[in-house]
Amino acid sequence: MSATPPPRQRRKASFAARLVAWQKIHGRHDLPWQRTRDPYRIWLSEVMLQQTQVQTVIPYYERFVAAFPDVRALASAPVERVLEHWSGLGYYRRAHHLHAAACAVVAQCAGEFPVDARALATLPGVGRSTAAAIAVFASGSRAAILEGNVKRVLARHRGIDGFPGAADVQAQLWQIAERALPARDIETYTQALMDLGATVCARARPSCTACPVAHDCIAFNERRTDELPSPRPKKVLPQRALRVLLIERGGEILFERRPPLGIWGGLWSLPELPLDADVRATVKTRFAADVVLRDALPAIAHGFTHFALTLHPQRVSARRWPSRAEAPGTIWLTPKDARGAALPAPIKKLMRMLET
Ligand code: SF4
Repeated sequence: MSATPPPRQRRKASFAARLVAWQKIHGRHDLPWQRTRDPYRIWLSEVMLQQTQVQTVIPYYERFVAAFPDVRALASAPVERVLEHWSGLGYYRRAHHLHAAACAVVAQCAGEFPVDARALATLPGVGRSTAAAIAVFASGSRAAILEGNVKRVLARHRGIDGFPGAADVQAQLWQIAERALPARDIETYTQALMDLGATVCARARPSCTACPVAHDCIAFNERRTDELPSPRPKKVLPQRALRVLLIERGGEILFERRPPLGIWGGLWSLPELPLDADVRATVKTRFAADVVLRDALPAIAHGFTHFALTLHPQRVSARRWPSRAEAPGTIWLTPKDARGAALPAPIKKLMRMLET
């Protein structure tokens, strides 16, 4: 990245004016939802664009609009049909919210899609930034947006430290976004912010030399574009540890089917017990069987979103095994066969370790 500042003549123009001028030449002008003022269609596009790239959204948007051309069509469709058209776009809560919001618009607004940002923000799945974007593009309202790309542009340009998802940082960014609003050209300005964030001020390696606001961008001038915005602080996850038993009998290992709900629901896994529990006594109680302790294998760490799990595998050999252990819900498999079964990832890893 070169530190060459852009031309001097741009320096006097405001942040918004520079973005507006840039958007007219370099921005995106032919996205399907840019050809309409229909708040319903703009709302669809804004919800689809949450967490999803433009190029992925375009074919979904076009099929969705063809299937549900207006809010009444969407509200009267069964939610399953809405989900079918959403299938593959991910984050399915958005599709449930779309359907619920369409029903609310029909029931409470006689099918007239609102264009006021405050009214829009009361709809399911429509946050403050999405409501503002719809209001801007559908009616030219002067409202600030602060979606992910815009947070990145503003945090870099103004040199705002701190994770943009944190309440205090977010409040600061909203204030900046509101103060930067131009008196005119609000649609072009709003589109410019989105376009700049998506195409120039990229998360990795932003193209600062092509940026219309580089000369007073703090991140650019202080060479901090790779530090800003600050990443999400790492959470210290609770740690859990369990012993898992590799109960071996004639080259096969005992697996149990896990309950359908909860972690690894319905998968085949190994019998587990607390680290301080007596292995032989536990096997005797649970399976009425006698086992001999063998070696312990290296621990396996596995991360879940809300805790970190360490499994301590213990090999044991079955000396005497009653038929009761072959009841439904248990199965004996060789490590090789087990690798083809529906096993949790760390247990599959363990099976690979056994084969080598
Ligand atoms: Fe983003 Fe670089 Fe432009 Fe600053 S100069 S806003 S970091 S693209």
